[in-house]
Amino acid sequence: MEQTILIVDDDKSNRKILRDLLQEQAKIIFAKNGMQAIELAKKHLPDLMLLDVVMPDLSGFEVISVIKKTPETMNISVIFITGLANDDDEARGFDLGGCDYIYKPFKPNIVIARVMMHLELINQRKMLHDIAHLDALTGVFNRRQMDVVLKNEVAKNQLNEATMMIALIDIDFFKLYNDNYGHGAGDIALKQVAIALKEACTSKEYFVARYGGEEFVVICADCNITSALELIEKMMQAVHLKAIKHEYSNVSEQLTLSVGAVVVCGKSAKHSGLDALNKADELLYDVKSNGRNRINIVPLN
Ligand code: GH3
Ligand code: MG
Ligand code: MG
Repeated sequence: MEQTILIVDDDKSNRKILRDLLQEQAKIIFAKNGMQAIELAKKHLPDLMLLDVVMPDLSGFEVISVIKKTPETMNISVIFITGLANDDDEARGFDLGGCDYIYKPFKPNIVIARVMMHLELINQRKMLHDIAHLDALTGVFNRRQMDVVLKNEVAKNQLNEATMMIALIDIDFFKLYNDNYGHGAGDIALKQVAIALKEACTSKEYFVARYGGEEFVVICADCNITSALELIEKMMQAVHLKAIKHEYSNVSEQLTLSVGAVVVCGKSAKHSGLDALNKADELLYDVKSNGRNRINIVPLN
């Protein structure tokens, strides 16, 4: 995927020279002062910033302080490119979270080499992050990330005394699907189900993970039993709309889901995330024993 660089310099000719140097390596956007730099960083979330230090309004040091304190922008890599060519300022730039420091007047080939090196590092970091957090087949979050989110959300929920939902979702007769259509088709169906779940879970409050095999977990903070039921029905409908043919299912002509879910009230702090998940699993088991393609949801008190 194309990477984006935000060039921040109050001098127009500097911005132009840097753009001409780097436009083949990345998409370039510009800011001509510190305020604009912060605004564009939040809006576009560039991969890298090339940041001048001495500017009329905010200095580059002030800009990076804001960038590194703001959760959405704190992971943006920042290279200073400045006329403040001395050890103390350079050390300050690194202390504030810069990843590199280039003196003006700069040498074009050095700028290109350093920027390329950092773009490559950013790419590798992103790949590592994805490998650690996402399920390779379906692209939704993986089991490890689910464990972290479940623990954090239950802890947050207990402080807020809000209610939250934890749903365990299992594809019906998926072994028969694989046995009859092949493992490759099974993989495609799993991906489609994951996409449908994500399509239904549009809000930032919803978290979708692959729990393992053909099972998914959805966690929804601040969700009561009515909104939880609506969400699960929306997910089942989204899978239905994918119209994944399953002639060997006993409950439908299409691939269907069974869902066990609990709504946990924050006040009942005695429940851990694991308790909630175990309860959802019991409810799912009941659905499987009583026909499948249904939802079993209860409040956990
Ligand atoms: P039930 O309705 O009771 O849930 O029956 P089921 O056949 O869906 O459940 P079972 O646990 O017996 O089988 C799950 C199947 O899911 C077995 C396995 O072949 C398949 N499966 C698990 N992970 C993957 C995967 O990554 N890719 C594919 N293609 N299939 C998978
Ligand atoms: Mg299963
Ligand atoms: Mg199953």
